[in-house]
Amino acid sequence: MKISRFKKSHKTLAFFATHFDYREPYQVLIDATFCQAALQHKIGIEEQIRKYFQCNVKLLTTQCIILEAEALGAPLTGALTIVKQFHVHKCGHEGKPVAAAECLKSMTKDNRYIVASQDRLLQASLRKVPGRCLLYLHKATPVLEAPSDASKKWVQKRAKNLMLGKQEEKIQYMKEKQGLKPTETPVHPKKCKGPKNPNPLSCKKSKKKKPALQGVEQTTRTKAKRKRVKIPEHIKAALAKN
Ligand SMILES: [Zn+2]
Repeated sequence: MKISRFKKSHKTLAFFATHFDYREPYQVLIDATFCQAALQHKIGIEEQIRKYFQCNVKLLTTQCIILEAEALGAPLTGALTIVKQFHVHKCGHEGKPVAAAECLKSMTKDNRYIVASQDRLLQASLRKVPGRCLLYLHKATPVLEAPSDASKKWVQKRAKNLMLGKQEEKIQYMKEKQGLKPTETPVHPKKCKGPKNPNPLSCKKSKKKKPALQGVEQTTRTKAKRKRVKIPEHIKAALAKN
């Protein structure tokens, strides 16, 4: 394999690994159309794909793909034999199979699979969704398609959002540094606590008072509390005149 082609495929893989969490071993979902093309060009899929990726890959297919190829009969007999060699991955349609293309679309919704197919309609549909990774055969050569416009746009948009977020952070930081930013309101404002009771351990024991004395004490207290109003001398004189 030419070095430039190897570089190109690894650049694509790196893109999907960085932005869409694709990880080694890369899982390749193979359909019957891909097997049919491999048969026509007399290539061994496993050998070619391993050579192309030069890293750990898992080759998989699904029950729906096998059943569809079986239903199509004679023209796909050879392809069916090939596709059956791969590990049959659970697709969630067990017991109620769907069309191979539908199965592949649903499989790629939540997981990271490289879809190996020659189905043009399926490819067109997957290109519209960010993060979908396509592998096809160009004559006898496997080609990992460069990221679609949808994938690139998604990455650009995310990068822009990240930048805006960082800028906002910077502005906040500068404001804080210059004392422009009002102090943030605490999440849990301090509760206004009333006067505390004295510590019972530091208090003297209250002395019990005799009930007989209590009454006397209270009357003296009330007497003591009464304020005497001092009447000025001239008013006293005026009052005496009356
Ligand atoms: Zn399925």
